[in-house]
Order: sequence, then C-alpha cells, then structure tokens
Amino acid sequence: MFDPEAIRQKNAELETATPQEILQFVFATYPKLAISTAFGVEGCALIDMAVRLKPDVPVFTIDTDYLFSETLALKERLVQKYALNLTTFRPQLTIAEQEQRHGLRLYQSNPDLCCGIRKVEPNQRAIAGLDAWIAGLRRDQAQSRSAIDILERYDHDDGTPYVKVNPLANWTRKDTWAYVVKHEVPYNELLDQGYKSIGCWPCTRAVGANEDERAGRWVGRNKTECGIHTFAHRKA
Ligand code: SF4
Repeated sequence: MFDPEAIRQKNAELETATPQEILQFVFATYPKLAISTAFGVEGCALIDMAVRLKPDVPVFTIDTDYLFSETLALKERLVQKYALNLTTFRPQLTIAEQEQRHGLRLYQSNPDLCCGIRKVEPNQRAIAGLDAWIAGLRRDQAQSRSAIDILERYDHDDGTPYVKVNPLANWTRKDTWAYVVKHEVPYNELLDQGYKSIGCWPCTRAVGANEDERAGRWVGRNKTECGIHTFAHRKA
C-alpha cells in the first residue's frame, strides 16, 4: 500500500491505534520490512513489542565505529534475550581511512560529512529494497520530530516506493519508560548516568535533569539530527 491517499486515510485511522496495532498492520501489509535501531530506549521498547508479534522480525543497526562500549554491550544483551534477527551495517571507510581522506576528528571539523559517511550512507544501504522501514521516533522527542506521521511515503534512489513507519509517534518519553519497566526490557546503562539520548561517543554527553532529551547531542553545534531521518523527501 503506497498510494498517497490511502496512506493519508490509514494515518488518520492509526492516530488512535497502539504501537502494537500499528506494527500488526505493517506486518500484514508490507512483505519486505525491517526495524532500525541505535539501541535507544525507544528502539529497545520497539524491539520487545515487535518480537512478541513476529519473533523473526528483521532488525538492523549501524555501527559507526564510534559507539559507546555500553551500547555494544546492550546490543549483545538484546541479541541474546530475543534471539534477535539483527544485521549490522558499517561505514565503507574505517576511521583510519576517513582520517586519511578527511583529516583527524571529522566529527569536529565537519560533523555533517562524518554522519553522512558513518550513518546516512550505511542506512541507505540497509533500507534499499524494503517496503517498510520501521523506526522508533517520537513526536515529543525534539522540535525536528514534532511533525512526523505514523506512515510516511518515500522513494528509494531507484524510484521504488517505501513507507517509513513511526509506531511510537504518539508516545511520550514517560510512556516509553513505563513500557520498558513493565516488560523488563534491557536498556543502555548510560541512561542511568545522566544521558537521555545516546549516539556516538564524540558527539554525546550527559544532560541535566531539566534539559531537553536531545540537548546532549552535538553540543555547541547547529545540528540536531544526523541525517538518517531527514535525508529523504516525503512523497506523502
Ligand atoms: Fe561522526 Fe558524531 Fe555523526 Fe557519529 S554522531 S557519525 S561521530 S559526527
């Protein structure tokens, strides 16, 4: 189902649906699908609810080579707990090759290019050929995410259509944590150490209790998104 009008109608219907109901619809509608996760608390909750419905649901992640050791440990815990059907995509350049080509600490000199190499390009490879890409974005996470829809229509580079699905669009941070606690979902131990959103270690810091969720990402930069969720233009 890629017709823009049908997607608009379905979006209106799904506004009052639970994330599980949204996942059920997506699993029944789109044969080639995958969940993306960077192992934030939303991704962990999404994985838990998805494997309860479809134990072999494909999941992918991007290892930028700059992940915290705590994130890598969480990845292993999730794989073990859920026998996760997980594929890890990596950048085409190692950090050494990137430094040779673009200089040391590209994450400081040009973080957009660094994210492009280490996140966006691998993500594009990961979603190639999918009918549905499921992500853990929430509207209340950040201003940049406030207008997301549950179903969003995009085109792949070759012109074939896909939908991006945001089953947690209507959930708050509190809803997410309530689910994680209730279902004993593993989560990143850095979240107990003042981090609210976790990406690569060079670009992530802990935040104060009253700071925004994503205030610890790319601190001091005019940058709020890596580009994975903003590189494509919506068709509907
Ligand atoms: Fe590079 Fe930072 Fe982007 Fe990670 S978040 S890919 S280190 S700029």
